[in-house]
Amino acid sequence: MKETSGRMIPVEEALAMILREAVLLPTERIPLREAAGRVLAETIASDDDQPPFRKAMMDGYAVRSADLERIPVELKVVEEVPAGRVPTRCLAAGEAVRIMTGAPMPEGADAVQMVERTEPAEDGRKVRILEGVRPGANVAPRGHDLKKGDIILAPGRRLSPSCVGLLASVGCCDVPVRRLPRVAIAATGDELVEADRAPRPGQIRNSNGPALAALARRSGALPSEMGIVGDDLSALDRTLEEGLKSDLLILSGGVSMGIHDRVEEALERRGVEIFFRQVAIRPGKPAVFGRKGDCLVFGLPGNPVSSQVIFEVLTAAALRKMQGVHSPEGKHLEAVLEEPVAQRPGRTGYLPGSLSFREGTVRIRPIPTTGSADLLAHSRADALLIVPADRGEIPAGDRVRALVLE
Ligand code: AMP
Ligand code: MG
Repeated sequence: MKETSGRMIPVEEALAMILREAVLLPTERIPLREAAGRVLAETIASDDDQPPFRKAMMDGYAVRSADLERIPVELKVVEEVPAGRVPTRCLAAGEAVRIMTGAPMPEGADAVQMVERTEPAEDGRKVRILEGVRPGANVAPRGHDLKKGDIILAPGRRLSPSCVGLLASVGCCDVPVRRLPRVAIAATGDELVEADRAPRPGQIRNSNGPALAALARRSGALPSEMGIVGDDLSALDRTLEEGLKSDLLILSGGVSMGIHDRVEEALERRGVEIFFRQVAIRPGKPAVFGRKGDCLVFGLPGNPVSSQVIFEVLTAAALRKMQGVHSPEGKHLEAVLEEPVAQRPGRTGYLPGSLSFREGTVRIRPIPTTGSADLLAHSRADALLIVPADRGEIPAGDRVRALVLE
């Protein structure tokens, strides 16, 4: 029997259930060069002071600033220290060392005068310094940027290219990250053909499979598309048998009230525990969430925009939680509404929006849309404008919340 009485739960409640059920994936160590985009699993500390020695920050001359009180002054050039070498002697009064950016400062020197403010004298045996410098000028003290043992990255951080550089600088080459969530994606519907086929009368192309796979990849997961599944229980069951071996299984379509919407029934037959069937969200509403063993299951609506919105609001949160990302609910911000929006109250609306920054504030413009099949409008959105379930209309100029599409 098809369960038709499932309670429609608020988005917040659905999200809380999902975050409760999603468990952290195990840690693995991967080469630094593969770490960008992955989520760090452990605390990383600096292995040394940065810089590890007192360092020249300019090409020029290491000097004793006290020698430059009367300007110009000629100093004896006693040594040349390029980056990668160490000075062999201590600087005495009246002396200078030709030094390059990144080289260790000689003892006795307290500043660097840049080469542009000097002139060679006596065939380079001396240097004429044309301007004075303050003590410490153009010198980075040891540990200026980091002290040994300073925490540089905390668990839950998605590693950017800049983080990769930071990890390299402290010698972290085997990076502890969360294992990638393996996401299986199946598109249900007898009317579907793959995108590289010409649809015959009554058929449409499967756009959800590729879109959901791309969304999963953007959420840091490893998607695998299982293709198209017909609307019959035995085909669905074969798909579930395979798909439930993943960390997360997404089915699109077949969760509405039509007589061929058999996904819930197939899930129950397979022993999937179902936590909710309907969410008070627009577009969307039919949205099934369950779990069998270690595999989370999402039954998303077939309408292309609905399936993407439910993914962004609910499924992405599960994937972030599995990877240990901070604030798995996603990035929200407040923006000034540029044009009024209206909806029938009762469900939280997620409308396609376009963000901009003008006159010191973040603004959001609703993108006109024909509804939950309007992929074109949705493709233009860089955020989803959130209309609270208890609101009918929101006038232009009001502040609204928006979910940023990464
Ligand atoms: P359903 O949720 O199965 O009732 O489908 C709702 C609507 O979405 C119908 O118009 C379907 O043809 C369409 N649809 C279902 N699955 C897909 C898909 N994979 N790609 C594009 N449209 C789909
Ligand atoms: Mg269908």
